[in-house]
Amino acid sequence: MPVSPPPGPLHLPAARDRAGAIAWVEHHLADVVDGTIDVSPRFRGGQIAADAALAALDITGYARNRNEVWPEQRRGASALSPYLRHGLLDLPTVWDAVADAPPTDRARFRDELLWQEHARHLYARIGGRNRDGLRRGMSGQPWRGDDPREVWSDEMACLALTVDELLRDGYLVNQTRMWLASHWAVRQGRDWRAGEDVFFRHLLDGSRAANRAGWQWTIGTATGRPYGFSRWQVEKRAPGLCATCPLATRCPIQDWPQDPPLTHADEPALLRHDPDPEATGGPTSPEVLGDAEVVWLTAESLGDTDPALEAHPRLPAVFVFDRPLLARLRLSGKRLVFLVETLADLAERRDLSVLIGDPVEELAGLRLAATVAPVPGWRQRADALRVVVRHPWRWLVRPHGGSVASFSAWRKAATKVGSLPG
Ligand SMILES: Cc1cc2nc3c(=O)[nH]c(=O)nc-3n(C[C@H](O)[C@H](O)[C@H](O)COP(=O)(O)OP(=O)(O)OC[C@H]3O[C@@H](n4cnc5c(N)ncnc54)[C@H](O)[C@@H]3O)c2cc1C
Repeated sequence: MPVSPPPGPLHLPAARDRAGAIAWVEHHLADVVDGTIDVSPRFRGGQIAADAALAALDITGYARNRNEVWPEQRRGASALSPYLRHGLLDLPTVWDAVADAPPTDRARFRDELLWQEHARHLYARIGGRNRDGLRRGMSGQPWRGDDPREVWSDEMACLALTVDELLRDGYLVNQTRMWLASHWAVRQGRDWRAGEDVFFRHLLDGSRAANRAGWQWTIGTATGRPYGFSRWQVEKRAPGLCATCPLATRCPIQDWPQDPPLTHADEPALLRHDPDPEATGGPTSPEVLGDAEVVWLTAESLGDTDPALEAHPRLPAVFVFDRPLLARLRLSGKRLVFLVETLADLAERRDLSVLIGDPVEELAGLRLAATVAPVPGWRQRADALRVVVRHPWRWLVRPHGGSVASFSAWRKAATKVGSLPG
């Protein structure tokens, strides 16, 4: 039953009280949630959990095993993404954390961190303008169902395993993201944007930056070469799984999918050149217009080392669940519980108020200190608020003015201006 929030700050559950976090979301946000409200059994929100995951990180064998899927103990992926997504870990910290790893594994892992940075640069520069594809889009049937299992058939062991993990844990390794995205858009010809929305609702690391870039890569937006998914990858990355499949002898994905028709989409003018990379990257040192009275936190940066939080250790902090936005997004309960766990954990160390409403209304008139987040939504809200101190975002690579049209073009331009970390 939807419940209207009372005005003013809301009382958070105790840190590490998972049942309390579920109850909080049920009480305050049930009307904007997609599906049931539960925790991810695999990930707990909060700085303490993020620090523990980083302390346990061992990427030995990463280069060989990163793409492995099943059985789970064969996997090499780090599962740090939910913490990176919400700024509980930042890319420079994770980059440094693997300094002593075996060189091949270190290089491969750091490459993936650069893919994340590229996606963030692309989104910071182009924003929602890449919604329809950059150079080539795919026409396809729009998707109207609400149940992802309509598209990702339950009968196939590879899809059932993967969709279960997405819905249960809110996480997938990169390989199975490509499987699901390819099955949706390349084999079935459905609208990739609808598939991207399903991922976004369920993935704890769901970000418009990396999710959109991942779907566009899969459909071949930048290259014109879509990624095909067939039984071949399942046998290679999940050996033995096909033997458990009811459709093992009549596998619907035995063969490669047909290449779908590609249509031309005009590319945004900013794709190859940014005339103002300084504006895209934000300030390099704090911009101070006055005295702040409160630190404004957003879902992009919820860590203890958020630059604004660190710079104002005595100020209270505030976080607003953006109800109008959440009503549009309809995130899974897991995502919201993860955020509540994160806030409850932070509230153990900082004076933190949590509100629900439109941030522009809730924070009107307050003198805010905030960390600049490289997403268009942050800029829109910040411009309508009184942000008197803007703290720099912690980039791994400072945005440059060269091409972001592909990872390799972006990397080349970053190398040219010497902005890649050593
Ligand atoms: C269709 C599709 C959708 C995706 N959606 C998202 C998303 O919403 N959010 C998200 O963070 N990533 C997304 N990715 C990228 C990637 O799959 C995930 O970052 C990665 O699987 C997260 O798991 P991990 O932390 O175990 O990765 P690891 O392999 O351990 O990599 C370490 C970190 O590097 C970064 N990284 C790794 N691979 C990529 C990549 N291909 N692109 C960008 N960053 C990468 C992530 O920050 C990741 O946490 C998507 C990829 C595809 C193909």
